[in-house]
Amino acid sequence: MANVARIPDGKDKVTITLAPTWLETMLMTQFFTPCDHHPDMPRNERNLFCIDCSECSLAFCIYCRSNHHANHRIVQIRRSSYHEVVRVAEVEGLIDVKGVHTYIINSAKVFFLNERPQPKGIGAAAGKAAASPYFCEVCSRSLLYDFRFCSIGFRTTESKVRMAGV
Ligand SMILES: [Zn+2]
Ligand SMILES: [Zn+2]
Ligand SMILES: [Zn+2]
Repeated sequence: MANVARIPDGKDKVTITLAPTWLETMLMTQFFTPCDHHPDMPRNERNLFCIDCSECSLAFCIYCRSNHHANHRIVQIRRSSYHEVVRVAEVEGLIDVKGVHTYIINSAKVFFLNERPQPKGIGAAAGKAAASPYFCEVCSRSLLYDFRFCSIGFRTTESKVRMAGV
């Protein structure tokens, strides 16, 4: 018997931590492309995302930031070995990051935005078993410490799974 009560409007009484819409948008946004508005500027890669304007869902560059987003909450996307990361300090408090693996990169604590492809095959499986007792609940990546997810992308995945009633 599932420990879930139905209330008349059909919604579960269980508290569900929904990922905010802007997070889903951010995870689908392509970053690090040159800004169309500033093609001739030296640092025109689009590595910023505005939480307060997220319905326009576009990444933008530092020059756009000073023009249009002066008082807005901005998250800067960074790159580590071709993977996109955000600093913990910039997103904690904005989203529920409990259970998400933090990594130290350039002496800053960061989260990975999305799952990273991992080597497949016998070697990888054997390595996994030996490496760590902790695994990501979604993609089974082995984790260094006792976290539940390898990236903040899985906050949204988990919400969807729970909403689907699984
Ligand atoms: Zn720009
Ligand atoms: Zn903005
Ligand atoms: Zn994972």
